[in-house]
Amino acid sequence: MGHAMVDMIADYYESLPSLPRVSPDVQPGFLRGALPPNAPEQPESFEAVMADVRDKLMPGVVHWQGVPDSSTRGKPSSSSAAAVGWRLAGLVRADSPSFFAYFPSNYSFPAALADMWSSVLGMVGFSWAAGPVATELEMAMMDWLADLCGLPPAFKCNGGAGPGGGVIQGTTSEAVVVALLAARARALAGRPVADRLKLVAYSSDQAHSCFKKACMIAGMDHVRLLPASAEHDWALQPEALKAAIEADVAAGLIPCFVMASVGTTSSCAVDPVAQLAAAAAGSGAWFHVDAAYAGSAALLPEHRHHFAGLGAVDSYSFNPHKWLLTNFDCCCMWVADSGPLKEALSLTPVFLRAAAGNSLDYKDWQIPLGRKFRSLKLYFLLRMYGAEKLRSYLRHHIALAGAFAQQVAADPRFELAAPQRFGLVCFRLRGVPREVNAALLAALNASGRLFLIHTELGGAYTLRLAVGAATSQLEHVQAAWAAVSAAADQVLAEHGVAAAAAAAAGKEVAAAGAGSGAGARS
Ligand SMILES: *Cc1c(COP(=O)(O)O)cnc(C)c1O
Repeated sequence: MGHAMVDMIADYYESLPSLPRVSPDVQPGFLRGALPPNAPEQPESFEAVMADVRDKLMPGVVHWQGVPDSSTRGKPSSSSAAAVGWRLAGLVRADSPSFFAYFPSNYSFPAALADMWSSVLGMVGFSWAAGPVATELEMAMMDWLADLCGLPPAFKCNGGAGPGGGVIQGTTSEAVVVALLAARARALAGRPVADRLKLVAYSSDQAHSCFKKACMIAGMDHVRLLPASAEHDWALQPEALKAAIEADVAAGLIPCFVMASVGTTSSCAVDPVAQLAAAAAGSGAWFHVDAAYAGSAALLPEHRHHFAGLGAVDSYSFNPHKWLLTNFDCCCMWVADSGPLKEALSLTPVFLRAAAGNSLDYKDWQIPLGRKFRSLKLYFLLRMYGAEKLRSYLRHHIALAGAFAQQVAADPRFELAAPQRFGLVCFRLRGVPREVNAALLAALNASGRLFLIHTELGGAYTLRLAVGAATSQLEHVQAAWAAVSAAADQVLAEHGVAAAAAAAAGKEVAAAGAGSGAGARS
C-alpha cells in the first residue's frame, strides 16, 4: 500500500498540467451527501478508500501547487496505482491552470520524504531527553538557516550555549503569540499584577490579522494598529510609532510589544525595521519582526537590505512552508534572548530550575508540549538542493513576477497598485469603479484556469498575483497575463467602460471608507 501511495503521489504530480481547474467547482456541503452518515462497523479496503479519495474528495481540492514544468510532464503509468484503480477523473483539458492566490505554500519531494520518515518515527521530542536528535538537529538547522539568511549572530543556538537561538513553530500565528507572551512576561517582571491592564501592543494597520488574534489570545487591552499609507508604499513610519508610544507612556500605560512586517500579506510592504526599532528603543517593548512570506528572500544578498536592523530586535520569524519548498508546517523563529520566552512558557520558572548543562528543552519555547520532528524537513531540503539552487529558485519567481508587472505597467488600462516586491504584483484596472475590478477577478477565477485573490489598498479594490508555486514557469505567467488582458476586454465592454476614456478622465478608483487590507488578510 505504501508503494501504491507513492505511485499515486507521482501520478497526481504528473497530472497537474492537465487538471481541468485549479480551484474547485463545489458548493458548501458538497461532501455531506457523498459520505455515509456513520463510520463503518467492518474494515474496508485500501482500494475502496482510495477510490473515494479520487471520486469524492479530490473534486474539493484547491490545487495549490499550480503546474509543473512542461519538461517534467509524463503519462501516469504506475502499475501499483493502476492496481487500486487510481486515475484522476476529468484529466482532459490541455490548458494549464495556475495558482497565484494568497501566498504560495510550497512543498518539495525532499521535504515530503523527510516528513514521511518523521511521521513513521513518531518521535515527540518535547525535551532533549525525549528525542535528543530532534533537539540537536533543530538547533543545527536553525543555525544553518540563520547563516544562509545573514541573520545576526545573537540569534544562533551555538549548541544551546548562548541566550539566543532558533526554534521551529508550526505557524507564524503561533510564533507571534509566543513572542507576545514573552513580551508580557518581560514587561511585567517586578511589577504588580494589575499592571497587566496597562500593557500596549503596536503594529501597522497592514499587519497580518495574526497580530490582532495574538492580542486577543493574550488578553491585551490596548492594541494600536497604526495607519500606513500609499505615500510610503504601505510601510509603517517610525514617527507614527514614536508618537503613539509617547502618548501611551504619558497616559500611564506600558509599551509591551511592537511587531513590524517585512512583506505584508496585502502588498508586501516592508516596514523599516532599523528605524522602527530605534523609535521603540528605550520603551522596554519587545520587538518582533514578521516576515512570514518574504523571509525566504533573505537568502538573496541583493534583498538583504529589506532585513536591515534585525540586530536590534528581540525576535524574528518566517515560514519556509510558504516560499522555501518545505511542506506545511514549518515556521522558523529566532530570539536574541530566550529567557523571557522560558519565563512565560516553562512550567518551572527559570529561577527554580537546576542547571541542566547545555541541553535545551523546546517545550519551553512553544505552546504545546508535543512537537513533530520538523527539522528533518529542513535537513533533507538544504542537503538535497543546496543553497545555490534555493537562491536561483527564489530569483526565478521574482523574475516571473517582474515579467507580469512589466506587462501591467505597459498596458494603459492597468496600473500597479504598489511596487512589485518579491513574487507579488498588486494591480487593477485604472480609473474604473470598484465593481469592474471585482468583475475582472470573478471572471478570471470562474474560468478555473487560474486562481487569484484581491485585497483592499486605501479602500481601492486591488488584484494580487502571487508567483511562487514550485512549478510556475514563464509560460504560466504569460498565460495568466493573456487571461487577465482578455478578461479586462470583456468586463470593460460589459460595464460599458471605455478604459482609455476613463483613464484620461483620471477618475478616482478608490471607494472611500472601505477598510484597508482586509481582503488578503484571512
Ligand atoms: C501568511 C502570513 C501570516 C500567517 O502565517 P501562518 O503561518 O499561517 O500563521 C502572518 N504574517 C504574514 C505577513 C503572512 O503573510
